[in-house]
Amino acid sequence: MEEIYQILETVKDPEIPVISIVELGIVREVRKQNGHVEIDITPTYSGCPALDVIPVLIREALASEGYDDVHVKNILSPAWTTDWISESGLQKLKEYGIAPPVEKTSDKSFLTDGPKKVPCPFCNSENTKLVSQFGSTPCKAAYQCIDCLEPFDYFKCH
Ligand SMILES: [Zn+2]
Repeated sequence: MEEIYQILETVKDPEIPVISIVELGIVREVRKQNGHVEIDITPTYSGCPALDVIPVLIREALASEGYDDVHVKNILSPAWTTDWISESGLQKLKEYGIAPPVEKTSDKSFLTDGPKKVPCPFCNSENTKLVSQFGSTPCKAAYQCIDCLEPFDYFKCH
């Protein structure tokens, strides 16, 4: 089982190639019986074009290690939330130049307090502005830092 997780760690998110699907929290459960492997995944965002790619990448990675009886199942409920991203995953997002989600979705204060400041992943300045609700993909919003002028993507909470 540990071995399968190690293989899954090598499967990167097609949109954010520095972060693995395990770190993103997409992998919900792995079951192994004899040679048969079943993997439950919860896609990050229903509008993501990467959605259909991930099961293919998982099967390819496992096949290259000799697991050719692999079934990937999409679990749509409960829906994925950014709370499932691991600490190392959040760190990698930031290093990649994507501002990680500011608040946990379990923190309901963002519903009443309006949008929180999104710190710039490059200089940590909170002096940033929203450029577009949609960044390079529908899962991200485009921001720009007013201090260092760097544009960056913000991984939206959902
Ligand atoms: Zn900046």
